[in-house]
Amino acid sequence: MLLTCDFCSATVDPTTDPASALTWSSSLERGVAHHMCVPCTRAQVRDIEAKFALNAR
Ligand SMILES: [Zn+2]
Repeated sequence: MLLTCDFCSATVDPTTDPASALTWSSSLERGVAHHMCVPCTRAQVRDIEAKFALNAR
């Protein structure tokens, strides 16, 4: 089953490229699986960290 990034539509095939597929983030929301590629995961982590940094001030 091909994984498709929710944000940039990048794809990875876990059957042919399991190592890359493992680095992707996946989550289950309301019974729907969401996948996120590595660059989008990093970008989102930065967003979350930026919000925490703002809240800490
Ligand atoms: Zn992506």
